[in-house]
Amino acid sequence: MSVWVDIVGQADAVAVLQHAIEEPEAMTHAWLLTGPPGSGRSTAARAFAAALQCAEGGCGTCHACRTALAGAHPDVSLVATEHVYLRVEEVRPLVTLAQQRPTMGRWRVIVVEDADRLNDTSGNLLLKAIEEPPPRTVWLLCAPSPDDVLITIRSRCRHVGLRVPPFEDVAALLVRRHGVDPAVAAFAARAADSHIGLARRLALDEGARIRRREILRLPAQLSSVGAAVMAAGQLVEVAAEESKSATVERDAAERAHLLHALGADAAGTLPPPIRAQVRALEENQKRRATRAQRDVLDRSLIDLMSLYRDVLMVQLAAPVASTNAEMSAEIDRMATVSGPETTLRRMEAIGLARERIGANVAPLLAVEALMVTLAWEPRASAERRAG
Ligand SMILES: [Zn+2]
Repeated sequence: MSVWVDIVGQADAVAVLQHAIEEPEAMTHAWLLTGPPGSGRSTAARAFAAALQCAEGGCGTCHACRTALAGAHPDVSLVATEHVYLRVEEVRPLVTLAQQRPTMGRWRVIVVEDADRLNDTSGNLLLKAIEEPPPRTVWLLCAPSPDDVLITIRSRCRHVGLRVPPFEDVAALLVRRHGVDPAVAAFAARAADSHIGLARRLALDEGARIRRREILRLPAQLSSVGAAVMAAGQLVEVAAEESKSATVERDAAERAHLLHALGADAAGTLPPPIRAQVRALEENQKRRATRAQRDVLDRSLIDLMSLYRDVLMVQLAAPVASTNAEMSAEIDRMATVSGPETTLRRMEAIGLARERIGANVAPLLAVEALMVTLAWEPRASAERRAG
């Protein structure tokens, strides 16, 4: 069982990383691992970190491999931020850490999972550390694409790009790692567009499957402007619920942990200095919740987009496999009552809503505008005559 076994559909990238392990002259101190969300960037970074620490180059079974893969190796630091930007306070300790020799491993490895979130200030600080690396330090920076990383940093790194893994590979991973039924695995891989984390959630969590189905049923309910506004409310609420179910437990645990660390009693009245710290934690959690809700909402819009893409493929009689095969009756109906121009216009509206939400427009406003656009039905006969 090598450390690379779960890096699915990335033979080229794995070959480059393995080569660097085997040939000292192919090794370098700063790597940039890019790939679309869900392609397995951070998993690949951990596997590389493990292979660097392993005396066998990544056997997958020794202590070094197992601790590095689990994020528990003392010389492998994993850094991710919950903030919109990686802040100077988060980067400064890494710069110091990079100067230290590994305590027990072969390398000091620092994995920055959100290198796209470096801003000018924190990026410049990191750049200094990358420019003057001690001999046993390796930086692994991860980002969706090279364009998302400051050019000064990017130019110091060796770039390795991951691609979207094929559906079949993602489905096979779900079957192998999680014992998922092959049919469910195939559905989940396709519905998640090969996003490994989402596919896993869809395969293992029935609640996630139900929520997705609810969202895909919304277009059928858009009979009037009033219905569109209701649908918007429903979509935003489902997103809020889903992100809440993901964070509420962790928030409570963090709070309890902080109180315990400060020696405070959760039930009693908190002295002012402790209250301030708890408030700071809560502010952080609120920011994280907002980000999580936007991420979930964005995912819902991608799901909706997949439905209209299926409709368009039927309208164009394109020989492409449907993402939402289980909804083929509804997709056929939608394809008959409107034309491809309308479908394209709707897909553009979804793209616009995603952009607006990404630019911090209030989610409900952006989704309401979207739903009203989706609800607007030109007279199908007129469009067909024109087309
Ligand atoms: Zn090993």
